[in-house]
Amino acid sequence: MWNQTWRESVWSQLSEEFDLIVIGGGITGAGILREAARLGLKAVLFEQGDFASGTSSRSSKLVHGGLRYLKNAQVKLTWESVHEREHLLKEGRGLVTPLPFVMANFRGDKTPGWVFGVGLTMYDIMALKWNHASYDLNGLHDLVPQLSSQDLLSGFRYFDAQTDDARLVLRVLQEAVKDGALALNYARVEGLLTCGTLDWPPGQAGAGTCTCGTGAGTCTCGTGAGKTRSHVTGVAVRDLAPGSDKTIEVRARVVISATGAWADEMRNQVAGRARLRILRGSHLFLPQSKLPLTRAVTFLHPADGRPVYILPWEGVTLVGTTDVDHETAPSTDLHISRAESEYLMASLTYAFPALGLSLADVQSSLAGVRAVVDTGKADPSKESREFVLWNESGLLTVSGGKLTTFRLMAQTALRAVRAFLPGHPRLGSEGRVLDPLPPESSLCDVPPELRLRLMGRYGAEACNLVEAAQPGELTAIAPSPSLWAELRWAARSEGVVHLDDLLARRVRLNITLPEGGMDEMEGIRKIAQPELGWNDARWEQEAARYRRMWKEFYSPI
Ligand SMILES: Cc1cc2nc3c(=O)[nH]c(=O)nc-3n(C[C@H](O)[C@H](O)[C@H](O)COP(=O)(O)OP(=O)(O)OC[C@H]3O[C@@H](n4cnc5c(N)ncnc54)[C@H](O)[C@@H]3O)c2cc1C
Repeated sequence: MWNQTWRESVWSQLSEEFDLIVIGGGITGAGILREAARLGLKAVLFEQGDFASGTSSRSSKLVHGGLRYLKNAQVKLTWESVHEREHLLKEGRGLVTPLPFVMANFRGDKTPGWVFGVGLTMYDIMALKWNHASYDLNGLHDLVPQLSSQDLLSGFRYFDAQTDDARLVLRVLQEAVKDGALALNYARVEGLLTCGTLDWPPGQAGAGTCTCGTGAGTCTCGTGAGKTRSHVTGVAVRDLAPGSDKTIEVRARVVISATGAWADEMRNQVAGRARLRILRGSHLFLPQSKLPLTRAVTFLHPADGRPVYILPWEGVTLVGTTDVDHETAPSTDLHISRAESEYLMASLTYAFPALGLSLADVQSSLAGVRAVVDTGKADPSKESREFVLWNESGLLTVSGGKLTTFRLMAQTALRAVRAFLPGHPRLGSEGRVLDPLPPESSLCDVPPELRLRLMGRYGAEACNLVEAAQPGELTAIAPSPSLWAELRWAARSEGVVHLDDLLARRVRLNITLPEGGMDEMEGIRKIAQPELGWNDARWEQEAARYRRMWKEFYSPI
């Protein structure tokens, strides 16, 4: 879909006028683009880095109701999340998979076990399925034999779901593009174009018309009385792909900023005061051999009573997460701190003391930032995780929320700008999250489990991926479950600009292989270099960039 000529082709269409510009290529922007394409809007998305390179590849990978939100009395958020989880489980098979959980209650927990029992009952009622059960000590050990006996009292079994967050973003984006939308990575919005308007929106009493000029802030307004105010009518974009320094001004009837933790930077340009608090959350990844789990385990951290999640994911064990104020300007690439690593390790040694785990067992790490509305609460974890919408001078900002609720956020955002898009159909309240897949039987000859995985990740392209595979490439890059064939397909047709796009987001080798897959680099090169059309010098440069990034951002500390 995004082959070698795709960037030029998208770039050549940017002088046309659009209905909608979306800034930000994480799950929120992808979801908005998807819904807009469904409505037949002419829409384009710009992402300053790689698609999903922000928070949306750095989550805990859960598609979940969020039990802990119930504790903070965020019942609506939990209800919506449970509802969306159920949709995603149904429509995202192979990409969104059920995940059995054990919740372990220890002596001295800040929240007594029965409270979670009430929460889980509500959880199941919301999903209309009875899926949880309580267990005594012996029962818990049957489920998770490695759990500590010391101070362990009892617990629950329940179900949530997990995904590959970056692949979810890509699947949503690809579906939007298939329906006619445009999406460009490494395209930074450097400025908002504004134009004076009279009594916006058009078509209402007293409205006037304005013709925008070519430069930022220039416009000629028609005659008529009325208040003149500034309205965002487009964006100035810079191409950040290697070897290019192109810029262009792109116009649209509506501009939506889905820039997550960067939203205040964009709002600043229309004089919005800073309203976001930026929190960092980090994870550690251990090889499964060090902590082999068949189900996720959650419990309260002994130091501060925050929930910790330990889950099997893509052949590794994920431990997360922290929730601390991020004191410097948000960046897509950041590293876990020593204190965070120690906090997460302390949770492991508390719950699994007999395994003797230490920081030396950690394979990789991942840190991300989230935006929450700053209400000044002393404990960052008490700030609401609900998403916000702000409409300021025609710039609609959508920030916060969860990976799980992306469809809901997208629909709410599009309803908020409906007045500016007359003549387009109304959004229904339901509809699909993801497109239906071709029947499984139509996919090339691969074993059923693999077929489902590929269909979930690559949607309608799964069969093309299988057909493109060369002999031996339908095998896993062990211990990661990703296939060599996925590398070939992604390099060929998934908009890879840098090597880290391929190894950190199209497939997740940066966290699922030891040393980020450095030992496999020759095999990776053999497949990826010709597909990407890079000469040796460019390959060496990209490999060096990947090595540096892995050490700086993904290595254990
Ligand atoms: C540690 C952690 C764990 C989490 N775990 C979960 C979980 O398990 N389940 C769940 O449902 N949710 C989870 N969340 C929440 C979820 O990950 C986020 O809500 C979601 O990913 C935010 O998506 P987004 O698209 O709004 O932001 P992002 O993914 O950050 O996307 C915003 C994008 O905007 C781009 N951008 C910024 N400025 C510009 C510009 N000027 N021009 C072009 N592009 C620009 C950025 O590069 C970025 O890619 C977690 C969050 C964190 C931090």
